Amino acid sequence: MLCIQRATLLTPDEQIDDGVLLIDRGRIVAIGDAAHIGVPADAEIIDAGGLIVAPGFIDLQLNGAFGEDFTWAPESIWRVAEGLPRWGVTSFLPTIITSPLQKVAQAQETLEAGPPSGWRGSIPLGLHCEGPFLNPQKKGAHNPAYLRAPALEDVAAWRPEQHVRLVTLAPELEGALELVQTLAQRGVVVSAGHSMANYEQARAAFAAGVRYGTHLFNAMPPLEHREPGLPGALLHATEVTVGVIPDGIHVHPAIVALAWAAKGPSRLSVVTDAMAALGMPPGRYQIADHEVFVTEDARGVNVARLASGTLAGSVLSMDEALRRLILYTGCTLGQALATITSTPADLLGIGRERGRLRAGAWADLVFLTPTIEVVRTMIAGVTCYVREES
Ligand code: ZN
Repeated sequence: MLCIQRATLLTPDEQIDDGVLLIDRGRIVAIGDAAHIGVPADAEIIDAGGLIVAPGFIDLQLNGAFGEDFTWAPESIWRVAEGLPRWGVTSFLPTIITSPLQKVAQAQETLEAGPPSGWRGSIPLGLHCEGPFLNPQKKGAHNPAYLRAPALEDVAAWRPEQHVRLVTLAPELEGALELVQTLAQRGVVVSAGHSMANYEQARAAFAAGVRYGTHLFNAMPPLEHREPGLPGALLHATEVTVGVIPDGIHVHPAIVALAWAAKGPSRLSVVTDAMAALGMPPGRYQIADHEVFVTEDARGVNVARLASGTLAGSVLSMDEALRRLILYTGCTLGQALATITSTPADLLGIGRERGRLRAGAWADLVFLTPTIEVVRTMIAGVTCYVREES
């Protein structure tokens, strides 16, 4: 039995001061304040020293890090995952962008094979397949040579049991709604993105089972007052969650605040969409088979672009995303935490297992300072990262 005490717990639905967490065999078995939770005499104690303890962060869109790109080299998933706890990320969806379908199969095999022995790191919950059923007019950094028309036979093996959890597609493509229904029935979360869908097409997609919007405003038609289009439909639909990249580059901070006002913490999902340059200096990197140039902009923020200037993912870490969401919206830490813990967990249908501090859930935890710096990260009750004292 492991006991974490003297913690400010953000579950994130509520705050528990002088909080205590009891952990057994990787899971939380009791949570409450010190006055109500008895500590077993033989428990191993971790004194949080008043730090904030929150659920581990969940990233629904991560292309790679540490110089590795999941689409180019699916076998790098486990290696990259070992480094993610430094940013508080305890589980994530490795994202495979538009590429030969064989790449998805390779990534499925990598996850099916499991980690190397002795491995310890952030848990890949399954793949996010971003493409290849996207609109060529909104291809972004995706290679148009590999875009495909929706076809059921291409996704025969795309199921949660075979490690596919989320699929981004353009719902206005011919045959896309049939794909949406099939995938949704299997329990795959289907997202609208890299799309030219108008408002009516987006509504039809939601009716067919689309429940997410990939990087709201990026690779979509603009929001116009007489033609709200896909972004207007995503903002308006109460049953749909939207992904946002709050790096200050993909969308203006005021637009992040507007999306926040429209959707709130349970329907806004912060993602990094980070690529190979995360955790690395500026330079040349790769996303799928495209070369990406990462430079530092005037504010000291690293930006990833193709030679054409098109954005090619971000170089945003999850803890920085959390700080920026609060800066841009003025929301509380608890609300901001929901967008990277309970909200993505609920979207994936694993809200009882992850994303909240509750009895029965995995003990995936992040210890944070009041200024939101990651001090310690635990996954299934095991410490995977401790910040070195400077
Ligand atoms: Zn994208």
